[in-house]
Amino acid sequence: MGRVLNFSAGPGALPQEVLEQVRDEMLDWQGAGMSVMEMSHRGKAFVGIAARAEEDLRKLMQIPDNYRVLFLQGGATGQFAAIPQNLLGDKGKADYVNTGSWSAKAIAEARNYCEVNVVAEGGKNAPLGIPLQSEWRTDPEAAYLHYTPNETISGVEFHWVPETGEVPLVADMSSTILSRPVDVSKYGLIYAGAQKNIGPAGLVIVIVRDDLLGKAAATTPSILNYQKQAEADSMSNTPPTFAWYVAGLVFQWVLRNGGLEGMAERNRRKAEKLYAFIDQSGLYRNPVEEASRSWMNVPFVLADDGLDKGFLAGAEEAGLATLKGHRSVGGMRASIYNALDEDAVDALIEYMQEFERRHG
Ligand code: PMP
Repeated sequence: MGRVLNFSAGPGALPQEVLEQVRDEMLDWQGAGMSVMEMSHRGKAFVGIAARAEEDLRKLMQIPDNYRVLFLQGGATGQFAAIPQNLLGDKGKADYVNTGSWSAKAIAEARNYCEVNVVAEGGKNAPLGIPLQSEWRTDPEAAYLHYTPNETISGVEFHWVPETGEVPLVADMSSTILSRPVDVSKYGLIYAGAQKNIGPAGLVIVIVRDDLLGKAAATTPSILNYQKQAEADSMSNTPPTFAWYVAGLVFQWVLRNGGLEGMAERNRRKAEKLYAFIDQSGLYRNPVEEASRSWMNVPFVLADDGLDKGFLAGAEEAGLATLKGHRSVGGMRASIYNALDEDAVDALIEYMQEFERRHG
């Protein structure tokens, strides 16, 4: 079987060009006579790979100099615990916005470390959406405000940035990072698990403003301590070298393809096309309010869930993989990350149209 169009929510599709480069460099990375996987993380070759990746990410996201970029392990879930341990300082409480499953997981983890003030809850019934900021019950004394710009499971995305004044804004960008430009200066901390728009699982990127370092609780594990990791260039221990290398190649690919503006233009077009098709159809439905629909994860249900199995089987046959919705919500979900181009969305729509003709 050839390569399929992979609509997986994560680990998700990577650019084919990047995979080809990884293949070509697998046995002998640029004359080193070994794979990147086999290199010392402290050797000149890998230190160069690591520095270039950071430099390219800084260029892509226009990360100001007063932010540190960390390449860590433990996924975004590890950060759910690291964030309160590092950022609470002498404040015992933090604000969290709950817009879906990933927000809820971050909240549950934070409750192990502090008082969590849930400032707003996204609707649990369709249409799903984001409560207006004017209705949030924020606490000006909170150590930080945490939110999830894109809920990977329900497909609810912020197309705006919360205003939090002096309270540092913390964002779980796991499923939206690199999909569009971001004004990093509005954030105290941004983090993202790699396995969607960045690269292989096993790597999580943390972008943190300098003044938030150095406040970690004494009991914070040293590998989760931002200050210590910043001082060690993310090498307090052996970092996820191969994932870091592949992430660097993805950054180069994004730079070659118009940077974040280029990604945004493409992603907007892809999403608009797919939602427009769903909205006009009689068989498919997306449960999210129009203003909060995700560019990256498009969940949809069929009017008759008895058709789900047939829909998925036919999709697989057509080379459209991993369209099954998350087990907690059922239905379908098409994740259309950066690596999936407009042709992939066209192929999906064509299949959906054909399926509707036969079963609608
Ligand atoms: N946050 C979001 C928004 C996610 O989509 C995911 C993973 N799908 C996570 C957190 C958890 O990431 P990890 O598996 O890297 O811990």
